[in-house]
Amino acid sequence: MSNYISREAAFGALQQAAKKHGAMGNHEAAGIYASAASVVAELPAADVAPVVPSKWVLLDDEERPRCAKCEHIALLETDELYSLSNYCPNCGACMKEERHDLHQDPVAEDG
Ligand SMILES: [Zn+2]
Repeated sequence: MSNYISREAAFGALQQAAKKHGAMGNHEAAGIYASAASVVAELPAADVAPVVPSKWVLLDDEERPRCAKCEHIALLETDELYSLSNYCPNCGACMKEERHDLHQDPVAEDG
C-alpha cells in the first residue's frame, strides 16, 4: 500500500532546508533544495482521503458487530456469520488494525 505526504509539507521542508543552507553560506546546497522544492510543487497530485480508524465492536447485549465510528452493523456473510470487512461499508472507516480480534472468533446471530 502506498504512503502519501502532503505537497505543502514536502515543499515547506525543502524550502526550509534551502533557507538554512543559504544562511550558512552553502549556496550550492541551497540551490539544490530550492530546485527540489520546485520539482515537488509541479508533481501531479493523487486523489486521496485521510484514513479514518475504527474497529468492529459489540455493544451491550448485542451479538451483532458494529462500526465503532458510525455504529453501522456489519454485513451478513452467511445467515449467521457477519463479514468483518477491512472497511466499514457505511462510513468507510478502516478496520484493519483491530480486525483480527473478532475475526478469529466470528460472531453468530441468534436464529
Ligand atoms: Zn462506520
